[in-house]
Amino acid sequence: MTATDVSVSAPPDRFDLSVETLIIGAGACGLVAALSAVETGREVLVVEADEVPRGSTALSAGLIPAAGTRVQRAAGIDDTPERFAADIQAKAHGENDPSLAELLAHGAAEVIDWLSDTHHLPFSVVTDFDYPGHSRHRMHGLPSRSGTELIDALRSAAETAGIDIVCESRATTLYHAEDRIAGVGVTRPDGGVETIGCDRLILACNGFGGNRDLVAQHMPDISEAVWFGHDGNRGEAVLWADAIGAKTRHLGAYQGHGNVAHPHGILITWAVITQGGIQVNHYGERFWNEAQGYSEAARAVLAQPGGEAFAIFDERIAGIARQFEDFKRAEAAGAVRTDDTIEGLARVFGLPPTALGETLAQIPWGQIDEFGRRFEGPPLCARFCGVRVTGALFHTQGGLCVDADARVLRPDGGAFSNLFAGGGAACGVSGSADSGYLSGNGLLAAAVLGRIAGRSN
Ligand SMILES: Cc1cc2nc3c(=O)[nH]c(=O)nc-3n(C[C@H](O)[C@H](O)[C@H](O)COP(=O)(O)OP(=O)(O)OC[C@H]3O[C@@H](n4cnc5c(N)ncnc54)[C@H](O)[C@@H]3O)c2cc1C
Repeated sequence: MTATDVSVSAPPDRFDLSVETLIIGAGACGLVAALSAVETGREVLVVEADEVPRGSTALSAGLIPAAGTRVQRAAGIDDTPERFAADIQAKAHGENDPSLAELLAHGAAEVIDWLSDTHHLPFSVVTDFDYPGHSRHRMHGLPSRSGTELIDALRSAAETAGIDIVCESRATTLYHAEDRIAGVGVTRPDGGVETIGCDRLILACNGFGGNRDLVAQHMPDISEAVWFGHDGNRGEAVLWADAIGAKTRHLGAYQGHGNVAHPHGILITWAVITQGGIQVNHYGERFWNEAQGYSEAARAVLAQPGGEAFAIFDERIAGIARQFEDFKRAEAAGAVRTDDTIEGLARVFGLPPTALGETLAQIPWGQIDEFGRRFEGPPLCARFCGVRVTGALFHTQGGLCVDADARVLRPDGGAFSNLFAGGGAACGVSGSADSGYLSGNGLLAAAVLGRIAGRSN
């Protein structure tokens, strides 16, 4: 999709239908916004391009970070929004607007508690491994640790609340007069167009990862990588922002992932690395400090011969990774290979056995290695496991700048009175590039900004 496929225009004389709150996109952000808006007595309509709402949310592990939730307290985890905001800022090298980081860090616990209490989503905290950059266990997920379970639970909550979701309706035209949004035009699969007027518009249509032109323009270093997000997220929000003079920021920011099983295309949880696993290249050698994070891992892996690497871990770690459906799928697909010896595992992947053996022998367990990584142990031992992996683009992190009400801003600091944005449509808190992404920043912005936008006046 290019700028010519989406448009901004003056409102028609009359709309086919009108609603108070119109939401574009039925991912996590759109559905949280809808549930929040109906609570305040508003009339809500969600338009969704796909046949069934899924979005990137369904592709994710569905883990939402939050500090100070009741589930955390019950698990004896002492955490605060201030500490969470500091972790977000540290990972993003202080590049985020501090007030946005604080807004998200302070709002997350309320969203998790509300989804648990009011909509009966059974969240629990991941406590058996550490996500890089989080100083406390604060990733909240549903039992299967899958985004499909999250989006299905949100959709069923929306159905129970009587929220109308109109599927197979892609918003393509934004109707705009002076500083107000009047409505949108949606295109149906048969090419028919319907106009919908609104008092408030919430952009919950995620970022532009599914738009190769925009990716090449804003993040050329990852533009050749596998696109692992939802293909329908094609950047209407930033294209409209350009046309109406809204402020955007950090359009070069993204979450990559350097541990996608290749060629199977299945996400291998980064827990296999944080628990003591390593990544090696075709020479059987390590090439970077894997502890930095999985987002920057994408570029590190793509820079290796063949644009691929091998995640090496052991059966103990595989046992932890099995709480993720994706990992079990990868095992069923034959992506996870095992052997009783490290040399045997090397042969499975065509790696030099002696070199891989030496790489493993050189790991300074309990100390810091030459790349700056601290290895806590226990040391890897038989039975050894490995996966051939590559780097992928997961989702974009830049977008429209919003204020504390999730209202879209202009470059001069003023706000559009009835236009809101959240999730991947808004500028998140991952700094300006790939290394600022703290685990969960994606759903954090979807859940918290969705909740705020839904309730704002
Ligand atoms: C493999 C993978 C794993 C991830 N794991 C995690 C994780 O564990 N934790 C985390 O925080 N984040 C994770 N993320 C990121 C996370 O999925 C996203 O940040 C989050 O889902 C964004 O939510 P959203 O509602 O903004 O977008 P989406 O869930 O993508 O929803 C947007 C919706 O808008 C619709 N849409 C788009 N354009 C239009 C239009 N013009 N008209 C109508 N509808 C439109 C789309 O079809 C889609 O349904 C992961 C991402 C991927 C790809």
